[in-house]
Amino acid sequence: MKIRVLGCSGAIARGCKTTSFLVDHDMLIDAGTGVGDLTREEMLRIDDLFLTHAHLDHIAYLPLMLDTIAASRVGRPLRVHALPHTLHALHQHLFNDLIWPDFTRLPTPDTPLLTFHELRTGDVRQCQGRTVEALPAVHSIPAVGYAVRGPEPGAPWWAFTGDTERNPALWRRINQLDVHSLFIETAFSNRERDLARLSRHLSPEVLGHELAHIAPGRRYPIFITHTKPSETDVILSEITQLRAAMQRPDRPAPELRLLHAGDVFDIV
Ligand SMILES: [Zn+2]
Ligand SMILES: [Zn+2]
Repeated sequence: MKIRVLGCSGAIARGCKTTSFLVDHDMLIDAGTGVGDLTREEMLRIDDLFLTHAHLDHIAYLPLMLDTIAASRVGRPLRVHALPHTLHALHQHLFNDLIWPDFTRLPTPDTPLLTFHELRTGDVRQCQGRTVEALPAVHSIPAVGYAVRGPEPGAPWWAFTGDTERNPALWRRINQLDVHSLFIETAFSNRERDLARLSRHLSPEVLGHELAHIAPGRRYPIFITHTKPSETDVILSEITQLRAAMQRPDRPAPELRLLHAGDVFDIV
């Protein structure tokens, strides 16, 4: 299974695109502005989109992508999987024939371009041979993360926290999985810890508390995502300090790196 990082920033600027990951060639996790890096042909190959939540930085390019692929997708809808809250928000506030056409009824109600599929935290879906599990998240609105693994027997899991703050339930589940790599958000630096707490995001200080939940003996690379462009350098230096502080003679610090748009991972 391949993961291509289309966008992993908490906001936009040149070279910074918001959250979207392409899984192999036919599945997306979130549809932030990173989707704009796909060619039309690549967009046409996507059958399933799993959304973490309804915030704009995670859905911004879904409506525009639909417009790009509309003419060639009649009879082959894009399946959107998300919490009921997320799907309701999309329908009510975006695909409402005001902000954008209601593609769940277009071009005809019988052959829509978009179909909605509810999932709940803990649900497991099969998607073209892959297994997708909705992980718990603690955010300002209902949200999930995802763990995905390929069809090969014994394939390891790629895990993505989505937007979240302190999340003990996530670690209980992650500690049960054979994790290849983990993408975890750290949206704010420590100087903005109050804002991070209010908006239910992580800062490096709280990230340190979270990483302490990783079960002894478990080691896998951890990639930091969702940093604000204005804060990325500060967050990076605070993460470097965090890693040094977590180093123990009997327990090496976790491997922490910043995620970049364009990164590609082979999860095998
Ligand atoms: Zn959010
Ligand atoms: Zn976000």
